[in-house]
Amino acid sequence: MNFMAVTPEFVARLAAVLGDGGVSTAQSERELHARDQSHHAAHMADVVVFPTEAQQVADVLRLANEARIPVTPWGVGTGLEGNSIPVYGGVLLSLERMNRIVAVHAEDFQVTVQPGIGHKDLNQQLARTGLFFPPDPGANASVGGMLANNAAGIRTVRYGASKDNVLRMQVALADGRLIQVGSRSVKQSSGYDLLHLFVGSEGTLGVITEATLKLVPVPTNMSAVVAAFPSVQAAVETVVAVRGSGLDPAALELVDAAHCKMLREAEGVDLSDHPTVFMEFHAAQESSLEAGLSAVREICDEMGVISFRSTTDPTERKKLWHARHHSYEIMVRSHPDRRFFINDVAVPISSYPALIGYVEELKHEHQMTTYMIGHAGDGNIHVEFPYADDFEYQRALAMNKLIVIRAIELGGTATGEHGVGIGKAAYMEFEHGAALDVMRTIKAVLDPNAILNPGKIFPETVRTEH
Ligand SMILES: Cc1cc2nc3c(=O)[nH]c(=O)nc-3n(C[C@H](O)[C@H](O)[C@H](O)COP(=O)(O)OP(=O)(O)OC[C@H]3O[C@@H](n4cnc5c(N)ncnc54)[C@H](O)[C@@H]3O)c2cc1C
Repeated sequence: MNFMAVTPEFVARLAAVLGDGGVSTAQSERELHARDQSHHAAHMADVVVFPTEAQQVADVLRLANEARIPVTPWGVGTGLEGNSIPVYGGVLLSLERMNRIVAVHAEDFQVTVQPGIGHKDLNQQLARTGLFFPPDPGANASVGGMLANNAAGIRTVRYGASKDNVLRMQVALADGRLIQVGSRSVKQSSGYDLLHLFVGSEGTLGVITEATLKLVPVPTNMSAVVAAFPSVQAAVETVVAVRGSGLDPAALELVDAAHCKMLREAEGVDLSDHPTVFMEFHAAQESSLEAGLSAVREICDEMGVISFRSTTDPTERKKLWHARHHSYEIMVRSHPDRRFFINDVAVPISSYPALIGYVEELKHEHQMTTYMIGHAGDGNIHVEFPYADDFEYQRALAMNKLIVIRAIELGGTATGEHGVGIGKAAYMEFEHGAALDVMRTIKAVLDPNAILNPGKIFPETVRTEH
């Protein structure tokens, strides 16, 4: 890709738009924005900018487009696929200072926000309304980063992914136009669905500068269930049975025996070294919650559950989910001499046992240490590969490739929630076939100079360091 270098004149033009405090070429700032939470190699931008309003974002894009300089949007850098690493340098466009709630429309169950607000911060500020924004990817990801990656998480099984919880966005295009996509109406049938074209586009088609999100009432009754099984297969069959029972869990997670051990040792959570299913149920009435729990107990018993615990105690429930949310950090901390490569395949729920069975077979055949944790209720699994050197990394890549191919063959996808970023670009041709050419055409129309987050999604643009 042929881009122009960032010059002092270009930096001065940026400063004219953003003010001196909104532009930094300092090494420390460039290093802070050089890598996300993935295993991919860091790469520094030449300049980092901090807009505070939409028009500044649009102006930065117009200047960069005219000068043929790449621009990589940045939420808070919690991505797990190198999505926000500025691999071609240029401008790193941080949305961190655009972190305000613009308007709460409580009577419509909606909120309009700037993109840099963290979803946890948003929910804290919304607490007084009794409403919340349900997608929850664990980390305090920004709403813009969540929409750009179509992030999901533990509550997706009940409330949907980010794409299901957004109604309207304002987007800055590469040529400096600011457009509105979608509307605040929950029913929308007007023209092409541009809203969902930008959702999941990972900052390669435009920059989200504002979003109106759907909210739901905070449930009054909640319970958590922890059920341990003698085998991974029994745990997975239980997940499928719970999904098929009509019980509508709010979370349905598979945690392998190794993760249970790590969570027990690091967080003191009462777990045994067995494959375990974590569940959560929400209900308006206590009686329906109790009826649901006894139905779940019956399913688990039929599947040969070893231990079953349910609780409505908020402290215990929070402790359990806190540990689940921190399982990635806990795993990384427990292996100080290793790096981690994480996969993110997803399949239709009926194929989940076949997928997990295949992973178990490969693990055995390749004699490799891998861990597994996943949003099982959505048919999504993260197989995690620790590696110490290039040899182990190449082995992990080879096993991962087999898993991705099998998931796609089972009617699934290479990525359920982390996005394509750098690492999954290699599978886009296999997964999408001729549709990938249509994506290239759309990219060329909206970003003809390919300045927006180059090096992501499209295999021919990717630089493969790790
Ligand atoms: C411990 C841990 C647990 C996680 N668990 C989950 C999980 O359960 N489910 C899940 O889905 N993810 C999970 N993630 C991944 C991560 O939180 C999500 O990918 C999240 O969407 C990233 O948001 P961010 O604000 O950090 O964005 P970044 O990582 O900064 O950016 C992500 C992408 O969005 C683009 N982008 C950012 N802001 C904008 C904008 N305003 N307009 C256009 N493009 C933009 C970037 O260019 C990049 O392509 C986890 C991460 C960690 C570290």
